[in-house]
Amino acid sequence: MLDLAIIGSGPAGYTAGIYASRASLKPVLFEGLESGGQLMLTTDVENYPGFDSGIMGPDLMQIFKKQAERFGTEIKTETINSIKKIDGGFILKSAKDSYEFKSVIISSGASAKWLDIKGEKELQGHGVSACATCDGFFFKEKEVIVVGGGDSAMEEALFLTKFATKVYIVHRRDSFRASKIMQDRVLGNDKIEVLWNKEVTEIHGSESVESVSLSDTKDGSSSELNIDGVFMAIGHTPNVDFLDGLVELDEKGYVKTGFTTETSTSVPGVFAAGDVADSIYRQAVTAAGTGCQAAIDAERWLDH
Ligand code: NAP
Repeated sequence: MLDLAIIGSGPAGYTAGIYASRASLKPVLFEGLESGGQLMLTTDVENYPGFDSGIMGPDLMQIFKKQAERFGTEIKTETINSIKKIDGGFILKSAKDSYEFKSVIISSGASAKWLDIKGEKELQGHGVSACATCDGFFFKEKEVIVVGGGDSAMEEALFLTKFATKVYIVHRRDSFRASKIMQDRVLGNDKIEVLWNKEVTEIHGSESVESVSLSDTKDGSSSELNIDGVFMAIGHTPNVDFLDGLVELDEKGYVKTGFTTETSTSVPGVFAAGDVADSIYRQAVTAAGTGCQAAIDAERWLDH
């Protein structure tokens, strides 16, 4: 039985790998079939400290990975499909094999929800984004759309007014689900216009986003809107399905932490870091921070 498994290869997972391998725990990191997490979907990352000229998301993740490998983190390109408690540890199964570990760090991240419409995937990183904090800066003096009616959509729209000349919120109903205070801020902002009862049905553009097709959810009529960027804010889903009830989740479905130490879960020996346990901050740097904490928590737990 090995000491430590790390599930996930975003900033939280790789940072846990760096710390755990430097502590001689010989961690095995399961990176999944697509390595790198959500930063693989962004272009320039300008808010990660230490890169004063910015860095491309995929390049940053490559550096994280190299640094974890340098100290001996073993990286397996496998997705863990199930994890069960056994005597003295846990058994993890991928499609290829099964493995036994004394402790586990869950850093499987969260996935932004997408509309699954034509043009959305093709133009990701070229005007289509699910993170205004990451990509808003590129829309200086431009016009953008935010899709959604929850607090995330309000927050993204307000943030984007710092850069864009005009922000449309496209919402499928005639009222927001966001908190009153956020709604008031949005409705009181001159740069924001709400397009009620509308759905985006297609995104158009060759090199970058040029326009969207909209459909009216009340009368079914369609229209076109010229636009430079489309921000999805229709929610995130923490990647917890494979846990199958192993650890307690919070009311939003994220892994609950803070039982004995900051990153401890309801099951001793299982720790969680990054977006899978964070519905609030969701930043690369906060994920890396909790990845470090999880490795230190796991090391101390194994010591005792
Ligand atoms: P959310 O509250 O689930 O809202 C998602 C929004 O997207 C809803 O308005 C929903 O429309 C819309 N939507 C979902 N699927 C859609 C689809 N296929 N097509 C079009 N629209 C779609 O998600 P969230 O805004 O990310 O918030 C998640 C949680 O975090 C909430 O509890 C929120 O309060 C919290 N949060 C808090 C803050 C803050 O306090 N500052 C900031 C961000 C998030 P319907 O309304 O019609 O269902």
